[in-house]
Amino acid sequence: MKNTEKPLESICIVGGGSAGWMAASLLSNVLKGSNTKITLIESPDIATIGVGEATVPSFMAFLKDARLPVKEFMQATAGSIKLGIRFENWYQQQHHFLHPFGKIGRNIDGHDFYQVWLKTLADGNETRWMDHSPSGIMSEEHRFTADPQLINTPLATYGYALHLDAAYAARHMREITLARGVQRIEATVASVQTDERQFIKSLQLTNGETVTSDFFIDCTGFRGLLISETLKVGYEDWSNYLPCNRAVAGQTENTGDPLPYTVASARAAGWTWKIPLQHRDGNGYVFASDFCSDDEAIQTLINVVDGKFIQEPRIIPFVSGMRKKIWHNNCLALGLASGFIEPLESTAIHLVYRNLVHFIRNFPDQQFDENLQQQFNSEIARDYVEIRDFVILHYCTTKRDDTEFWRWCQNMDIPDSLREKIELFGHRGQLKHHPEDLFGADSWYSILEGMNVRPKKYHPLVDALDSQKLAHSLNQGAKAIRDTVMKLPSHGDFLRQHCPVKKT
Ligand code: FAD
Repeated sequence: MKNTEKPLESICIVGGGSAGWMAASLLSNVLKGSNTKITLIESPDIATIGVGEATVPSFMAFLKDARLPVKEFMQATAGSIKLGIRFENWYQQQHHFLHPFGKIGRNIDGHDFYQVWLKTLADGNETRWMDHSPSGIMSEEHRFTADPQLINTPLATYGYALHLDAAYAARHMREITLARGVQRIEATVASVQTDERQFIKSLQLTNGETVTSDFFIDCTGFRGLLISETLKVGYEDWSNYLPCNRAVAGQTENTGDPLPYTVASARAAGWTWKIPLQHRDGNGYVFASDFCSDDEAIQTLINVVDGKFIQEPRIIPFVSGMRKKIWHNNCLALGLASGFIEPLESTAIHLVYRNLVHFIRNFPDQQFDENLQQQFNSEIARDYVEIRDFVILHYCTTKRDDTEFWRWCQNMDIPDSLREKIELFGHRGQLKHHPEDLFGADSWYSILEGMNVRPKKYHPLVDALDSQKLAHSLNQGAKAIRDTVMKLPSHGDFLRQHCPVKKT
């Protein structure tokens, strides 16, 4: 069968932040050998947002799909390993827990490990949920290796992502994609022209040039120059569920080897992040302006960081939500232009990748079949909603009542989709799933366990398992994980030996 439709001849990416360069990296690989020309317009006048430095494990798949070798990427971006997120003071003050990547435990005789673990708790087992997580124990011990031999050890199911310097990452992807033939125009878009169907026709640049293209990818950040300011696609505002709407961000000198996890510490009106890189730390306070002023937030951040500031703290406003249509006519919105869910689970870069994956799956030709757009828009909306609900879970299960903000969270309105999920879980620990969910069952169990939410009972079929044998098996499993982890190099040594930052 032959393809008779006319393929896209040109794609124009507007914006040179993480989203723009991720699009250029992935598309230049996927479209190699085709006749589709890729151009990226990068403004010398408008800065990138400059935050967005923690990723989730799908980022490793992005690097592979975009043909960006991991070691080079880590060296170029002062990258460190992220095995998960440590949550401090979320359930109550002085309490912490981990959300580790990778799998936790192994199913036994076809029974879900979480159910088995619940049964053993009822029988007096004292292993923690985290004791069965390879990435969890590697985090606690600050140890790491990427040795492929791990596949034959009790750590086989570990998972990891990266922390990266966002400015270095954009620079690295730019160098690689330009060498692949992506054309870069250094200019700012002054105006956008559309045709009578509301398709984007051309861009007028400040250097006098006019750029035409078959398709446009709007990576212009929160403003959404093409998707919002030009095509007037509306925004679904989720701030009733996710009240944090500002952040103060600042970089500090690091004070030792980088931690192999992100730290998210709950504060009076939100939470602070610490993202450890090889050459510095990224820090910020994400807060709700209804409960905290900018000055208070800046002061909080100054009080809690470890090292000396190397960049003045700056305020970044945002609204959690998503565009009503992320792909409209011949324009795809990507990155912050497409929407934003506050950064608690570091999911925005993941959504850039997902957005591109769905786009490639539904890749248009010059007919712009409406069905492809619709399919794309429903797939990406499902991803957004799944992540939104997971992030809300961290707030609505708090037992903190020491500030007005946390009291508000205890009584907050939550979406029906999340309410149903929590109710189902409450009966006997079952979860509603979609095969393409970013956060699988182990992630949900980790947050629920961390927030002290347990089901009323466990699955009745696990009662048939022998309690003594189970207790022995779980104890041995947890010991094997810890013993193996203790033989690994420290995270700092791993970075020094395998991917030290390249000084430029
Ligand atoms: P930007 O970086 O804002 O880039 C926009 C680009 O558009 C710029 O290059 C600008 O010059 C260009 N532009 C604008 N107007 C024009 C014009 N007229 N002509 C030409 N160019 C133009 N994500 C994560 O995955 N993990 C995190 O830990 C994380 N933390 C975050 C913390 C905070 C507080 C915030 C707000 C976001 C965070 N994010 C995080 C999100 C992450 O920063 C973004 O997803 C990512 O940086 C992509 O940004 P972007 O490229 O869409 O936008």
